[in-house]
Amino acid sequence: MSKKFLSIENLTLIGIVFGVLLGYYIPEIAVSIKFLGDAFLNILKAIAIPLIFASVFVSIATLSSISDLKNIGGKAIAYYFTTTALAVLTGIIVVNIIGFGSENINPKTVNETVHHKFTIKSFIESLVPDNIFKSFTEGKVLQIIIFSILLAVATLYLEKTKKQTVVLFIDGLNDALIKIARWIITLTPIGVFSLVAYVVADKGLGTILSLWHYVVVVVIGLLIHAVFNLGLIAYIFGKINPLKYFLQVREALLVAFSTSSSSATLPVSLEVAEEKAKIKKKVAGFVLPLGATINMDGTALYESVAAMFVAHLYGIDLSLGEQIIIFLTATLAAVGAAGIPSAGLVTMTLVFTAVGLPLEGIAVILAVDRFLDMLRTSINVWGDLIGAKIIDRFVKEQ
Ligand code: ASP
Repeated sequence: MSKKFLSIENLTLIGIVFGVLLGYYIPEIAVSIKFLGDAFLNILKAIAIPLIFASVFVSIATLSSISDLKNIGGKAIAYYFTTTALAVLTGIIVVNIIGFGSENINPKTVNETVHHKFTIKSFIESLVPDNIFKSFTEGKVLQIIIFSILLAVATLYLEKTKKQTVVLFIDGLNDALIKIARWIITLTPIGVFSLVAYVVADKGLGTILSLWHYVVVVVIGLLIHAVFNLGLIAYIFGKINPLKYFLQVREALLVAFSTSSSSATLPVSLEVAEEKAKIKKKVAGFVLPLGATINMDGTALYESVAAMFVAHLYGIDLSLGEQIIIFLTATLAAVGAAGIPSAGLVTMTLVFTAVGLPLEGIAVILAVDRFLDMLRTSINVWGDLIGAKIIDRFVKEQ
């Protein structure tokens, strides 16, 4: 077999297919090899946190000026918000056009409730670190990013030798972490195989069928956003062929799919962005870590569809005004969601509370959440990678 065929990307794809088959036909074995997937996920998570710190630091500390930071930062934030809003809008339009059909689920019989509640106040409080070491050990990504930006900006003001020492050290650390990421990537096919096999064995494909109307609407919405919206944006603003770019970065999308975590995927996203797509380190190092935490198109779209689905189940008619509230809160809730599995489910309480939907409605969609999480996380990462490519075009090499 040719070497090209046996690339990591293709082996990963094969891993997913065999994972589904194993999980479906021999679930006992799928469960017993879960530790392989867990080990893969853990090592990715282990390097993700220091990598987020180092890459954000390096990308800012190597900029020539603060106005350069404003330039990249401003563009990134503008991109995140427009694409997230576009995603929610797509979700709402798809629901209004396709609708949900008639599900035979009686929400009153479900009495599981979601306990955590997400509010804007708690989100803003969570941005400020009180002990930076605690932020690291607890994996508080936004706090780490804020600290890293502060430290990098402060470093820009240091006298030359001190500045060089700090930057060289953290830059070296960053390169070494990327090297580890490259090693871990060679293990992706096995990790992905085990993770997917376990999800299928644990959740079963049957649950997906029971909520298929809802699943289909989410999937169609995600596909439209990924292919048309983001594809067109990449073509127009990034002057790239989205299909070619997709093939270059697909390893990151496959890892996102199987881990359901944008943060755990970050080491792989950074590697493919810099090595395969040749995006400048200072752009990728800033746009991707920040994007992995605040830019979640898939999550935003999913949350709006989920809210409208639950309203539909409870026989609640949503007015245009309420749909606008869903639009606004789903955008915010996606920004607030951490890049970890099921985070969107927690921040969705914000959307539900805003339009007065019963929180226990979330329990109905729990059954298919993991599967939809895999898809929305891939779209989240795809949105980050397109953003990095577009912004790269506008930032000059020094
Ligand atoms: N799992 C998603 C992510 O990491 C967040 C979510 O639950 O929607 O991007």
